[in-house]
Amino acid sequence: MRRSRADTLERLRSGPIDLLVIGGGITGARTALEGARAGLRVALVDGGDFGGGTSSASSKLVHGGFRYLPMGDVGLVRESQHERRVLMESVAPNLVRPIRFVLPVYDGSPRGAGTVAAGLLLYRALAGRGGRAAMLNQGAARQVVPSLRTDGLRMCGMFEEAETIDSRLVLATVKGAARFGVLVLNHARVIGLELRNNRGGVVTLDAGDDGLIDVPSKHVINAAGPWVDLVRRLDDAAATPLVRLSKGVHILLPHEGDWKAGVAMPLEGGRVSLGIPWQGMLMLGTTDTLFTGNPSEAHVTPADVREILDEASGFLPEEMLRPQRIRFSIAGLRALPVAHGDTAAARREHLIEVSRNGLVSVAGGKLTTHRLIALDALGRLPETGLGDLSPDSRRLPGTGWSLPLETATRLAPDVADHLERLYGDEAGQLLELAAAKSDGLERIHPSGPDVWAQVDYAFESEWAGNAEDVASRRTTLAVRGLMTPEIADRIRSRMSNRPTRSGMEVVPIRG
Ligand code: FAD
Repeated sequence: MRRSRADTLERLRSGPIDLLVIGGGITGARTALEGARAGLRVALVDGGDFGGGTSSASSKLVHGGFRYLPMGDVGLVRESQHERRVLMESVAPNLVRPIRFVLPVYDGSPRGAGTVAAGLLLYRALAGRGGRAAMLNQGAARQVVPSLRTDGLRMCGMFEEAETIDSRLVLATVKGAARFGVLVLNHARVIGLELRNNRGGVVTLDAGDDGLIDVPSKHVINAAGPWVDLVRRLDDAAATPLVRLSKGVHILLPHEGDWKAGVAMPLEGGRVSLGIPWQGMLMLGTTDTLFTGNPSEAHVTPADVREILDEASGFLPEEMLRPQRIRFSIAGLRALPVAHGDTAAARREHLIEVSRNGLVSVAGGKLTTHRLIALDALGRLPETGLGDLSPDSRRLPGTGWSLPLETATRLAPDVADHLERLYGDEAGQLLELAAAKSDGLERIHPSGPDVWAQVDYAFESEWAGNAEDVASRRTTLAVRGLMTPEIADRIRSRMSNRPTRSGMEVVPIRG
């Protein structure tokens, strides 16, 4: 059970706060966690839902950055490889899991077989312990990806990456931050910043039905992702842009066949067409196009979908790629350095700026390297005396292993796997909640593994504020295309009928 919203609001009003972090994506969540671990009194606020921005629209890969090798980013590759290993082995073992990728090179491919093979060898060398890469013949390639097109296939490499459920990784990090005593509040947008020359100031939040709140804070970090420049302009109306945005779209289709690996097919201009078996679905993407509008209005267009299907037809049969098969689509925005030229060729490192008033703004980078980005942002705060920090490598809440649920509860195997993956060592608490309701372990939709207790748990213990938070970021209803209007109504009525709890807290720990 976590601190109630009313209690959090009360504590924010009464202050004082050492550090307020704006934006509960993966960057802000980890920044808040590390700040609190270093001894600061921290608050984390998000204008929408935790993970509701870029951090739930990624390609779901915790990756070593194979595609950055041709850009010469060897440092970024090495750093990413290390972070992937730590996230997979220590920080979030049930949420970050290994996945193999095949890399097919066809006739007419932009990169020759020799170049790709050399790249794989270098990649393996940079990975150190645990990095694997191999060359496959056509038969072996079809064994791991049964639908792979083999006509014109000149070679096929294989390498290892990791995949995650990005929205749940953010949530686990927010839980980790709360465990260190961070005051966390979603659905509370920052609409005003009154900062005085490195001496902190007041942050004004619009918390919807809970009204406007002025929070005094000694320091503020702006981790608003694609919205970073909008927040910077609250501090300095004349601030010139720190980032330019590039839109990336993914689509999800029902899965066919037993894929044991994903596919990463090189395209012109350094881009890659991805086909990833994810949550029992097939995820295809992604696009990379300059976006100049309001980040809140980024959406998937028919042209985006055509581009993805067209590019995937390079490695998959046409019948798998009929537009009618699409169940879900999502657009995300990359925050890239302001520069001219192709967004696909732009470097993926993060950006940090400190304003005259002491507002630290951080954006870009990768989900994979978020722990390092967070420390970099904290290191730029004026006069905190934090010294040298290193990232916390301890396991996040709800990301370890629980009892084998299937045997413990006689759940259907797909439901047991699903609950273990999403809730890890919190699965027991979810089952306790399920026991209190006659339909707790009933499937929400017959075609998916999500059960009704997850909805209750989302409202009770995971800060869900509405049906959309539940469908898109606490369960997998939305990504499977199973969020029907009837289910949305039932979730809403479950939300309004739940008992009100107040003042329950996690016990803060210091590390
Ligand atoms: P966000 O997740 O966008 O969070 C910013 C938050 O700020 C939002 O939740 C928003 O609601 C909040 N906010 C905005 N304005 C305000 C305000 N005024 N007040 C309060 N809150 C506010 N990286 C990988 O490592 N692996 C991948 O496979 C991968 N794939 C990607 C694919 C695509 C298409 C894209 C776009 C990115 C991908 N990335 C990947 C990069 C990665 O997703 C991002 O680097 C990361 O998610 C950025 O997180 P963030 O916290 O900085 O931003």
